[in-house]
Amino acid sequence: MAKKNVYFFGGGKADGDAEMKNLLGGKGANLAEMANLGIPVPAGFTITTEVCTDYYKNNGNLPDALEEEVKSALAQVEAVMNKKYGDKEDPLLLSVRSGARMSMPGMMDTVLNLGLSQETLPGLIAKSGDARFAYDSYRRLIMMYADVVMEKAADIEPEDGEGIRIQLEDAMEALKQKKGVTEDTDLCADDLKGLCDEFKAIVKKVLGAEFPDDPMEQMWGGIKAVFQSWNGKRAKSYRRIEGIPEEWGTAVNVQAMVYGNLGSNSATGVAFTRDPATGINNFFGEWLLNAQGEDVVAGIRTPSPLNEDTKNESNQHLASLEQEWPAIYKELYDIRNVLEDHYKDMQDVEFTIENGKLYMLQTRTGKRTGTAAVRMAVEMAESGLIDKNTAIMRVKPEQLDELLHPMIDPAAGKAASHIAKGLPAGPGGAVGQVVFTSEAANEWAAQGKNVILVRNETSPEDVEGMRSAVAILTSMGGMTSHAALVARGWGKCCIVGCAEIRIDARTKQFTVGDTVVKEGDWITLNGSIGNVYLGQLPLLPADPDQNEWYAKLMTWADAVRQINVRTNAESPEDAQQALKFGAEGIGLARTEHMFFGHERIIFVREMIVADNEADRRKAVMKLLDFQKNDFMGIFKEMAGKPVTIRLLDPPLHEFVGSLETDEKELDALAKHCGLDTATVLNRIKSLHELNPMLGHRGCRLGIAYPEITEMQVRAIIGAAVELTKDGIKVLPEIMVPLVGSKAELVHQREIIDRVADEVQKEANVKVDYMVGTMIEVPRAALTADEIAEAGEFFSFGTNDLTQMAFGFSRDDIGSFLPTYLDQNILPNDPFEVLDQSGVGILVEMAVKKGRSTKADLKCGICGEHGGEPSSVKFCHRAGLDYVSCSPFRVPIARFAAAQAAIETPRKK
Ligand code: PEP
Ligand code: MG
Repeated sequence: MAKKNVYFFGGGKADGDAEMKNLLGGKGANLAEMANLGIPVPAGFTITTEVCTDYYKNNGNLPDALEEEVKSALAQVEAVMNKKYGDKEDPLLLSVRSGARMSMPGMMDTVLNLGLSQETLPGLIAKSGDARFAYDSYRRLIMMYADVVMEKAADIEPEDGEGIRIQLEDAMEALKQKKGVTEDTDLCADDLKGLCDEFKAIVKKVLGAEFPDDPMEQMWGGIKAVFQSWNGKRAKSYRRIEGIPEEWGTAVNVQAMVYGNLGSNSATGVAFTRDPATGINNFFGEWLLNAQGEDVVAGIRTPSPLNEDTKNESNQHLASLEQEWPAIYKELYDIRNVLEDHYKDMQDVEFTIENGKLYMLQTRTGKRTGTAAVRMAVEMAESGLIDKNTAIMRVKPEQLDELLHPMIDPAAGKAASHIAKGLPAGPGGAVGQVVFTSEAANEWAAQGKNVILVRNETSPEDVEGMRSAVAILTSMGGMTSHAALVARGWGKCCIVGCAEIRIDARTKQFTVGDTVVKEGDWITLNGSIGNVYLGQLPLLPADPDQNEWYAKLMTWADAVRQINVRTNAESPEDAQQALKFGAEGIGLARTEHMFFGHERIIFVREMIVADNEADRRKAVMKLLDFQKNDFMGIFKEMAGKPVTIRLLDPPLHEFVGSLETDEKELDALAKHCGLDTATVLNRIKSLHELNPMLGHRGCRLGIAYPEITEMQVRAIIGAAVELTKDGIKVLPEIMVPLVGSKAELVHQREIIDRVADEVQKEANVKVDYMVGTMIEVPRAALTADEIAEAGEFFSFGTNDLTQMAFGFSRDDIGSFLPTYLDQNILPNDPFEVLDQSGVGILVEMAVKKGRSTKADLKCGICGEHGGEPSSVKFCHRAGLDYVSCSPFRVPIARFAAAQAAIETPRKK
């Protein structure tokens, strides 16, 4: 059978359903599903995403069979709506909208009111009894069609400010000025009739073509333009940021128009079945009397609240739908319950009331903040709507980041007075320098600056700048405006509808009363309550312990998780923070950081410039007590939990390099060692290496200078012995860095065991310690079966392993990484997201080989990837026992590990 290209929906039935998202796009699948559920949707049909893919494969040609299929679906729509497209008496009007698999808010194009022409206009005027409405619909059609179909889809790239839409808007503005009115609604039917003629003349002049008067030509123009918009600049940027594949394509939804702007019995609105900012189980939304859907999202008029729960400071004076039309509100509320029961998730819906009749225009899974995602998931599981595992899968691990986000110090927030207040669209606090364009946001952010993007309103063209900014502030728009939706999806601090600020993009400043804020000035936003402050207020680290839903979700996650989560920490303070976040041990304590303390660096340097073993040993041993104290602090904090301590790793030059240009310090060192400055300088210079990352570092240090290993082991076991005596359980794991062959580990192990033995004997105390190695040199992975003979554990140092597997210097990748990402040569930064198909193979191989030698070999990861969700999931699948990451990423790793256990449970 030939491939079906067109799927009808309406009148209580549909060809498709919600399962068909890939083919019908999210919007089309949900419209079909709603129709099947008996929810009132205007009838329509969906042209599949496959047609889009074919369209691009066939150089912009649509499949032959499409025309007939569209015709027959249109006939079905006409039957349900009891109107005919192009009819002179009672014309059916259509909308054409995009709909990809994943929602891409505002990224692609829409055309409304298709089917209005010189012939059908009189019919609409007669049927609606409202000439003003008919001409207003017509001018909207001309505007959108000219912009979307005749300009954008035709690849016409006007100069800035010269686009057809702007020119038409200017004409309308000029008319309003001439008439001495400020609102669109003040223009009468005759004004709009004249404006439509003027619009058509401008279109002809600017774009060199007539606005089409044939309804069929309009419909096909709209359909093609939506396909064309899949490859528009905005859509491409958004796809890149969100990682949406090019080949998915978009579906096209052609649907009967219903009107919220037919007078005082009509309205339009947007709602969320629960509050998308906080997650509270309240029906939440906004509506506008006598308006079209785009008016709500555009944020030009302040929308009214749906109900009491939706009232806030800026809209509480407006009547809610619940107060105004209780019967319709009740019908909408019932639909809300049907939708949540059916989809078992929070829905984002659009509705229109046409002459007192409610129509649902769309439903989709609503975007939400991380805070809201957590609360909704937990409450839905507790009410039995979903199970606990589904609740865990509902929250993206990255979304937890937001709960762990900084907030403005409440004391400082209270003491400071805000200069303006807007709507709290994205939570948390942010401090940044003001910029007014997306380009500036990108440029400044690239220089490492924190910027806050300030705009009247944002459009999809701004997404890259919004991404670069730490926060977004807009003077217009409601909680469902573009800025609010996009920022919320990203969990970014955002304030919208801050009407008090007056932005002058030309002079790059905004004013609030007498206060002038210029580009580059610092401001602080409290996105949780909508306050804007001048200057930089202190931010407090987040306190997720206060969030009961988070605590529950994490408890559920921990119960299903099958791997442990440790932390990378080398101070008792960091260890404490990590424990609060649920760390179950330390996976990496980098001892070199302890060498930089100002009292001890001199002894480290003395050790480095010593030119014989006796002097070196003497210097090294001066560090013993410092190190021992360090370890005591960490062990105490982590009592009863494993602590992996890595022996000294970095090239020695790192400790003395700065002295080459610091005469004072150099003299001090020379004096301290009783040597002359020139000798010391020569010794330092001799440590220069061309490739220090591949030079004298890691176990190569301990092999050349065994006394360093001896001192460190004496400190580790010495600390363990003392605490054991005090009844504190200590589980040290001594880790040898940068091993590439068994012989290296055997060499170091011999020293470790000998010294550990001595210390235990001296104190007559037994300590349970382990010896293991990092696997961070590719050769170690390749010979892991041999290396496992000499150690009890492996810890994958995926920073170095990535560096050496790719041959990318971890310190220099910045110079070419952007090009690699831009050209899709790399899917992402391999130092952030583990390269599973390359570096990951080395990890899997080493685990397998290692355990072929020692079945109970403990394996973990301590590279930066240990806190990145997709990499954590990989580690679960690869059979690691634990991941280790920085303290603030511990909750994210715990959560990602739980999701991995649900997705791919391990056999017990
Ligand atoms: C690693 O290489 O992954 C690692 C953890 O060690 P470092 O980053 O200290 O080299
Ligand atoms: Mg390393």
